[in-house]
Amino acid sequence: MTRARRAAACALLVAGGLAVPAASAAGQEEPRRVRLESLDVSDNLYLLRGGGNNILALVREDSVVLVDTLGVGWGAATRAALDNLTTAPVTMIINSHDHAGHTAGNVEFPHVTVTVAHENAKRRMESMDAFSGANARYLPNRTFSDTLTLLDGIDRVELHYFGASHTDADAVVVFPEKGIAFMGDLFASTSPPYVDTAAGGIATRYPEVLAAVLEELSYFPEFVRGPEVRTFDMVVPGHQEPPDLTPLLAWFTWADLERYAQFTRDLVGAVTRAHAAGGGAGEAEAAARGVAGGYPGYDMEYVRPFVATVLEELDGAGR
Ligand SMILES: [Zn+2]
Repeated sequence: MTRARRAAACALLVAGGLAVPAASAAGQEEPRRVRLESLDVSDNLYLLRGGGNNILALVREDSVVLVDTLGVGWGAATRAALDNLTTAPVTMIINSHDHAGHTAGNVEFPHVTVTVAHENAKRRMESMDAFSGANARYLPNRTFSDTLTLLDGIDRVELHYFGASHTDADAVVVFPEKGIAFMGDLFASTSPPYVDTAAGGIATRYPEVLAAVLEELSYFPEFVRGPEVRTFDMVVPGHQEPPDLTPLLAWFTWADLERYAQFTRDLVGAVTRAHAAGGGAGEAEAAARGVAGGYPGYDMEYVRPFVATVLEELDGAGR
């Protein structure tokens, strides 16, 4: 497989999920099913999963807020999952970034009045087929550059931007009163990050962007919710498959995000050292793979495109 094709396959896997439905032997599309998980039984925030993507649904008294959509064709299955909880319409969508697997499904929620995304995400979404013609009304109509706060009370949502890494438009979506942070594709899964350079992504910046997330949001790990002091302790990745737990309270924590940040630092460091020593792509990849030993359970299948992007950036900086 050429590098370009490998990168494209990775983009589809990581960013787009199952953009094209799998066909059965009879040529019929397999039905799309969205899995619904409670994050915390006492709370109104839920995880929905379909096509390899994770999104959140904040179920309010008379409306639903989605954090990301599941891509084209997943609207009905998403609604069917929500129907287990409420008949209230989806009225607000927060897009973590512009990749189609996180945004193209916006057009399947006709009651939405507010769509929020980083200003760089909106700019690229304007040229996506999914939002052409009459569908332009599903584009973000509220944007931000650094931070934005939405709603209030227990449902308060904060959007934070920390710079270019996966793309140049990735928002960390934080529910401070619930102790939950949705990472989108900044922390897609426990594997080398996918960096979309065409969308402004910068591989060598990944460690510092995640360090900024940890630093800026470090005041969250302890917060008061009602009479209890709770821990800001659930980090939801954009693609990682959740464990079979209900509620999902024991999933990824702040400590896992710290570990992932260190993983990206180790990866970039290993490739940078190999490059400085005059090594080529093979040596750099071997060095990057050597990092995996410190991270049991991490999947290194897609390390090659990440290494290639780091090398391109290092070569570019040396010119
Ligand atoms: Zn993405």
